[in-house]
Amino acid sequence: MTRDADAVVVGAGVTGVAALRALALGGLDAVLLEQFALGHDRGSSHGASRIFRLAYPEARYVRLAQRAREGWRALEAEAGEELIAHTGSLDIGSIALDVASALAECGAPYEVLDGRTAAARWPISFDPDEAALFQPDGGMMRADRAIATLLDGARAAGGKTLEHTTVTGLAEHPDGVTLETQAGEITARAAVVAAGAWSRDLLAPLGIELPTTPTRETISYFRHDRAEELPTVIDYALLPASHDSGDGRASYSLPAPGVGIKAGLHRGGSATDPNLPGEVDEALVGWTAEWIARRYPHADPQPLASETCIYTNTPDQDFVVERYGRIVVASACSGHGFKFAPALAETIAGLVAEVS
Ligand SMILES: Cc1cc2nc3c(=O)[nH]c(=O)nc-3n(C[C@H](O)[C@H](O)[C@H](O)COP(=O)(O)OP(=O)(O)OC[C@H]3O[C@@H](n4cnc5c(N)ncnc54)[C@H](O)[C@@H]3O)c2cc1C
Repeated sequence: MTRDADAVVVGAGVTGVAALRALALGGLDAVLLEQFALGHDRGSSHGASRIFRLAYPEARYVRLAQRAREGWRALEAEAGEELIAHTGSLDIGSIALDVASALAECGAPYEVLDGRTAAARWPISFDPDEAALFQPDGGMMRADRAIATLLDGARAAGGKTLEHTTVTGLAEHPDGVTLETQAGEITARAAVVAAGAWSRDLLAPLGIELPTTPTRETISYFRHDRAEELPTVIDYALLPASHDSGDGRASYSLPAPGVGIKAGLHRGGSATDPNLPGEVDEALVGWTAEWIARRYPHADPQPLASETCIYTNTPDQDFVVERYGRIVVASACSGHGFKFAPALAETIAGLVAEVS
């Protein structure tokens, strides 16, 4: 069987473009196929900013974030551009202590503060006795610049991209895998399926069961004149009555370059079909505006704009990065996968290298 490439990547979200770069840097002839235009806003990776943080209650995620940070630093050096603005990250609520022990286990610096001390340091309102954890390595990722820089690096290493090319099926053979598209077949030694919310249905005909549920999340933007100085915030304490902090739910915010603050309710969205256009959830906009009014005295709580974005959720919010024969599945989301892309790309390239 003649092959068109060593590896084909399905999907140009942050996971797919990071994988393309890692495969091309590894000397492979690699091609990425994207059903829409590069940079589209139908999936999970669009928008100017994301939270980068080491502050997780699980040490394994702290370590994975530390590994990813090295990858982002290498990319920053390569591009001569800052991709993470290290304003620090704040976690509010009793979870702060779990996060503290995970950070301590991984040798990462942090401060546990009470609300009174924290309110004296940032223009954010706290209950005097509530717990907050500050971690200095956290900050705002320039998400759109990160994806553009990953793509530049992939192309410089020989990686190729095909837009408006939808993979309609995959078939594995003894010496290769064939991907059917509306433009014909492409055959490679291995395929990486990084198709986000679409991966589950693309893989099911192969007998690969991906336990993911897409949800449509709503985020809103607010005016705040000093937003760039603010740490990113994950607030497990202040939540709408309809949502408890189970399952890692939290209100969150981060600087939105040139706008002010971006905010939302993590895991606040409802199940969705990624093929259908998205609608903003007005109840979530209402909650986010109320949260902004209660936490940010200097912000204008009137939303400037709102938009949707898709989470691809696993039941435990962990990532699925596994190989099934010649097919590598890379499903890394549940609303927190962006920051890990360089580290996950290394793992993906390692799995592809196992395929002869
Ligand atoms: C509102 C919101 C806030 C978030 N905040 C953070 C944060 O602060 N920090 C953080 O680390 N993470 C955050 N995340 C999560 C992060 O953005 C995602 O984990 C990440 O973007 C997932 O990228 P992906 O490449 O796996 O999926 P996607 O970006 O969805 O990419 C999948 C791509 O595959 C393409 N595709 C699908 N099917 C096919 C096909 N058949 N043929 C060809 N192409 C196909 C799609 O068009 C899409 O471009 C957030 C996510 C959302 C939605």
